[in-house]
Amino acid sequence: MISDQNSRLERSLDVVIVGAGFAGLYMLYQTRRMGLRAQVIEAGADVGGTWYWNRYPGARCDVESLEYSYSFSSDLQQQWRWPDRFSGQADILRYLHHVADRFDLFRSVTLNSRIHEAHFDDTAREWRVVASDGRDWRARFCVMATGNLSLPRVPAFPGLDSFEGRWFHTGLWPKDPIDFSGRRVGVVGTGSSGIQLIPVVAKQAKHLTVFQRTANFSVPAVNRPLTDDIDQAHKARYDVWRDEARRTPFGIAGHPPPHLDALDDSPEVRDRKYETKWGIGGNISFLYTYRDLLTNDAANETAADFVRRKIRSIVKDPSIAELLAPKDHPIGAKRLCLDDGYYETFNRDNVTLVDVRKHPIERVSRVGVRISGADYELDDLIFATGFDAMTGALLDIDIRGARGRSLREKWRDGPVAYLGLMTADFPNLFMITGPGSPSVKTNMVMSIEQHVDWIAGCLAGMDERGQTLISVDPLSEAKWVAHVDEIAQATLYVKADSWYLGSNIPGKPRVFMPYIAGLDRYKAICDAVVERGYEGFIMRR
Ligand code: NAP
Repeated sequence: MISDQNSRLERSLDVVIVGAGFAGLYMLYQTRRMGLRAQVIEAGADVGGTWYWNRYPGARCDVESLEYSYSFSSDLQQQWRWPDRFSGQADILRYLHHVADRFDLFRSVTLNSRIHEAHFDDTAREWRVVASDGRDWRARFCVMATGNLSLPRVPAFPGLDSFEGRWFHTGLWPKDPIDFSGRRVGVVGTGSSGIQLIPVVAKQAKHLTVFQRTANFSVPAVNRPLTDDIDQAHKARYDVWRDEARRTPFGIAGHPPPHLDALDDSPEVRDRKYETKWGIGGNISFLYTYRDLLTNDAANETAADFVRRKIRSIVKDPSIAELLAPKDHPIGAKRLCLDDGYYETFNRDNVTLVDVRKHPIERVSRVGVRISGADYELDDLIFATGFDAMTGALLDIDIRGARGRSLREKWRDGPVAYLGLMTADFPNLFMITGPGSPSVKTNMVMSIEQHVDWIAGCLAGMDERGQTLISVDPLSEAKWVAHVDEIAQATLYVKADSWYLGSNIPGKPRVFMPYIAGLDRYKAICDAVVERGYEGFIMRR
């Protein structure tokens, strides 16, 4: 129950939105346009979400900036100038600031306020949302715009408290730049964050020790400044690009779907094609070389083998190359990383790679990381160890729906949601890019816009019809969850221990969370649900 003694009632709203990243800001924009009273509550000291917290050296988006940006305002997309093909964290944050300013969103954003309770009041038929600072918001609707990768996870290594050096997590990076010059730095984790950070820190640190548990596939980003020519050519046809993006599985234009299977080509032709994609850069481009790379083991192996050969050709020490060459999961089944000189970094004299699969980290000691009884002495320790993805930020909040039902209880065996938009027994609670929606397997900004537009349309329709309550039919929800799983089981995604499956969190139920049939197909399903009178939803006056 919400404790009334300490909470302070702020305001009664139509919509309370939790989170001020890409999702929360656009939801605010849309609800404002509809004349609803809306407020965004944000834990950080600024807007930006992911791009506010992940300030680690080398942080950069792996979707091209001309795509990874809002499409809802033609003026905005014509006037904003991205500096790079794949822009860095600071530029994306600057962009979100610009958006918040331009559309006068800041006045409805409460910063430095972390929501820890959201309870539905059955009698008043409203959500009561309480922040850790005691502020209490009430609203007819609650929208969770809490992000998919926003609850950072530091592994429970014993002894971390005793470490006398500095330690950081990539997802909670300090605002002031950190200087690693002259220092002995350790990095745990070689996912997308580690693979971006390691080359940058290696150039500054006196010595860098990389503690690798699972070798990861990475392909070159081939980042470069966005020239005026490219920028202008894209802007001249921006609507066409956006239209195309919405009709693709990933919400990204410019990548025509492949028509051949990998084994249709001879090994020589295949290698030539992979080589071309390697030179172009980008992960979608690479995985779109053939149409069966994520459904057929033998096809996948041709791409995996190509990347392993690349690693062996780049890394001079054969034993280090072998350690860096992934062999235990299909390429692309975990997020395919993009890098800028990652494998080359291991040719540097000041970089050491340690295999913590073979010899796991025992503890963090006063002076560093202890493995097999010996200390790797460090001044700084960086955790690039990822997030409790997709459900973490939602379950971090004590969410209670009708009759006090707890979301943590309901999702004990894994997330259950209809279209990733709502979950049964939690009336008037929406999730933006929730589990069971395409979200992380697409251009997030496109998926966010699709969800926000759908929710806004739903709210507008309810108002017109005088309806005040929306909930989900449990049977439709169960069917959707089964469908999401069926699609995943037909692919190689389920063959890797990834955060898509929750495998990175000890004890988390193993459920494949994103819907991977594609944003185009998903959008068509959501639109058909509306055409059929919100099939699977229950609306009441
Ligand atoms: P991640 O992909 O989950 O990687 C975490 C890393 O930490 C893995 O190498 C993992 O090893 C390691 N690790 C975790 N616990 C460990 C332990 N106890 N001992 C040793 N190693 C441990 O996390 P991430 O790199 O932060 O990336 C998460 C996602 O965020 C990405 O997949 C991507 O979607 C997104 N992201 C995107 C960008 C971009 O746009 N360029 C950049 C960063 C992140 P195991 O594999 O063995 O578990």
